[in-house]
Amino acid sequence: MTAHEIRPKQLRALLLLLVIVPLIPAALMIRFMRETLRSEQLTAMDRLQQLHAETLRTALRNVHPQEEASESTRAEALIQSVERLADQSITARVINSAGSVLAGKPDPWGQPIAQASTQTLPGATVQLHLAGQWVLDDVIADQRRALAQVGVLTIFSVLSIAAIAAWTVHRQIAIRDLKSTSVATVAHELRTPLASIRMLVDTLREGRYRSDTQLREYLDLVASENERLTRLSETFLTYSRLDRKTDLFVKTSVHVNAFIDRAVAQLHPRLPSSNFTKDIPSSLPSVRGDLDALTQVITNLLDNALKYSEPPARIQLIARALNNKVSISIADEGIGIPESEHEAIFEPFYQVDHKLSRRREGCGLGLSIVKEIVAAHGGSIDVRSAPGKGTIFTVNLPTA
Ligand code: ADP
Repeated sequence: MTAHEIRPKQLRALLLLLVIVPLIPAALMIRFMRETLRSEQLTAMDRLQQLHAETLRTALRNVHPQEEASESTRAEALIQSVERLADQSITARVINSAGSVLAGKPDPWGQPIAQASTQTLPGATVQLHLAGQWVLDDVIADQRRALAQVGVLTIFSVLSIAAIAAWTVHRQIAIRDLKSTSVATVAHELRTPLASIRMLVDTLREGRYRSDTQLREYLDLVASENERLTRLSETFLTYSRLDRKTDLFVKTSVHVNAFIDRAVAQLHPRLPSSNFTKDIPSSLPSVRGDLDALTQVITNLLDNALKYSEPPARIQLIARALNNKVSISIADEGIGIPESEHEAIFEPFYQVDHKLSRRREGCGLGLSIVKEIVAAHGGSIDVRSAPGKGTIFTVNLPTA
């Protein structure tokens, strides 16, 4: 681990923080919204008062002095000036110092929301009133809508930022976990054949065998464990080459039979002819690809079909041509794969059930190699499977 890398425990703590911390601003926002809504009547009144104080100031500025006119004419001019600026949510009246109404609505609703004296009519006061409760209700409804929009937007932004951050950290944890799982898997896969070779060689060195037949048997076992190690190192090398994209495929026109036959021949000792059937029409078109790489695709899929099913389960290979594509399906009647795992099995080092996979040879690279090769050939792979029923992998390759 480099000095800059975060430890797994720190990552988990960070993940927890990222989940908890955004809840604080979200909770504060909810509280703020609740309190604001509670005091909404006051706020609405406040807003209307500010708004109409301004309306009144402007209206009074706009009235021309009419020194010769009568008191009621000047009061009417004031009312008209207000009405020019205000809408029907406002009513206005002018009262003199004794409280008598000189012009405007004689019995308005509620308390005045703005009032001011004017030089045009000394001693008189111009008052603005709301037209009714509905004006206040409309403003409250508007306020509510705006507040709800801002609130929802704030909460949504905070939670989405937190979700993105949490997802990033979560991915870091997953990559880290995968790294340590991969190292453990590789170490385990290497240790098993090495340990049995060691044990067999020790047995032979100490002469602990009863007959030439047993000697031969032990040597065969050493050879088969050696083959297993070779297969493993080839898998690691292929994976690493594909990962670094250094392996350029040599593509030619390849007949489907060519790579299928090679793969079947490679697995021949383990592929009992009684349980294996092959259905390939002779008229199949060729595909454009790398013979070795395509052989590996079929080998890996057949190898899995063998590993994850118990004899006498049948294994079928069917190839068909369809719309400029050749599709090759490999079906087994083995343990199957739960639907939730259908995507993950193509990830490097991923194994559905580690305990179960450990009992079988493999390190979780087979399908990721298959996927890379198929993609590099412009093809696709899909899986249909149900636990306890079996699995069908289908590879689609464009024709040459
Ligand atoms: P492995 O080396 O573990 O077989 P693969 O990448 O080939 O790795 O496969 C990934 C996992 O997918 C396996 O560990 C196994 O759990 C599951 N799997 C692959 N093929 C089959 C199959 N035919 N039947 C059931 N499970 C399968």
